[in-house]
Amino acid sequence: MRIAMISEHASPLAALGGVDAGGQNVHVAALSLALGRLGHDVTVYTRRDDIALPDRVPMAPNVEVVHVTAGPVEPIPKDDLLPYMSELADGVVADWRSRKPDVVHSHFWMSGVAALDASHRTGVPMVHTFHALGVVKRRHQGADDTSPRERRWLEPRVGREADGIVATCSDEAFELKALGVPFERITVAPCGVDLETFTAEGPVATRGRPHRILAVGRLVKRKGIDTVIDALTRLHADTELVIVGGPGTVDETMTDAEARRLRDIAIERGVDDRVVFAGQLSREDMPTMLRSADAVVCTPWYEPFGIVPLEAMACGVPVVAAAVGGLTDTVVDGVTGRLVPPKDPEALAETLDELVVDADTIRDYGLAGRERVESRYAWSRIAADTAETYRTVAAQREQRVPNLAGVRP
Ligand code: UDP
Repeated sequence: MRIAMISEHASPLAALGGVDAGGQNVHVAALSLALGRLGHDVTVYTRRDDIALPDRVPMAPNVEVVHVTAGPVEPIPKDDLLPYMSELADGVVADWRSRKPDVVHSHFWMSGVAALDASHRTGVPMVHTFHALGVVKRRHQGADDTSPRERRWLEPRVGREADGIVATCSDEAFELKALGVPFERITVAPCGVDLETFTAEGPVATRGRPHRILAVGRLVKRKGIDTVIDALTRLHADTELVIVGGPGTVDETMTDAEARRLRDIAIERGVDDRVVFAGQLSREDMPTMLRSADAVVCTPWYEPFGIVPLEAMACGVPVVAAAVGGLTDTVVDGVTGRLVPPKDPEALAETLDELVVDADTIRDYGLAGRERVESRYAWSRIAADTAETYRTVAAQREQRVPNLAGVRP
């Protein structure tokens, strides 16, 4: 198949860990590469945010990235990108003039707005993945949600008008149903993990203390890293917390407002000597860091999917996660790690306190985690399932559009 991906803010070529670069970038990149390996032709359209970016960048055999000029050619927070979506759609449609794709798969609601426009104008069937839902974000962030107001009505519209929706977890499928998206149009295909890069064997980063817990991700409030710092105060002093993520190097990261807020909490709680900010890590360095932990801790307020737990499990490391969103699909309580209530430092501390000193359980959870990702979360499998959705959607579209061949005079 010829597949167009639209990922307006999350380029598959971007460095990860900054405020707007995380799971979606990984997802779009890995899914595109896996579809390319299956022999499909994939073009990923993303917004040009730097004048130095070439128009087209070959990413791998069968996969290329196209930078479309849509709005000022500079980094712009994703919540400010809506006004440029019709320009993005124009650029995409112009590129389809020479050859139309069989399907367009958009990522995040704003790309969905551009994809709907492009799909209406060309008849190309559309599949959409939300990655995050405004309704959930509003529920948790209230007035702190910086999404544009239009998200309230445009996001459900994308859901209702797309030919097919690929949700990343079952929780999201139920949220979508509540938004009026017909259930039969939703399939669930999780994110995957690169099983060759994230392995249990390999180099291990050096610890600063006998026990290490690790938090990895974009430094945004909703990731709940403050809950982990709070829990650390209840753990033995021989346990350190390493925080990975941020806008760049450690120095650059410490200029970040959220990093400073977390540092201040650690100082106030008297655990700053046990909290290590590692800054942003490359994909290559991530497995070495993950393997160094007794447990990877993910305690967001909510989580549309959460790739970090899969990466930890692939590295044979237990995951202690908040029982929210996609994390309840990926982490099996008492098998690959533990699920705890969100925003509950006491429950988290109790769980970690037992776990970090229990080498047998750490090993068992780690082995079970690796087995689980091998059997369910290989990108090759997820790409094959997603391609099946593309085929179904394209076939349904053909049935709906009357075939006028031979009818016209
Ligand atoms: N990540 C990274 N370097 C960093 C911080 C994060 O490569 O310094 C990666 C991390 O390994 C994972 C992704 O960014 O692949 C975060 O995805 P997740 O789904 O956990 O969170 P999201 O960013 O989507 O909220």
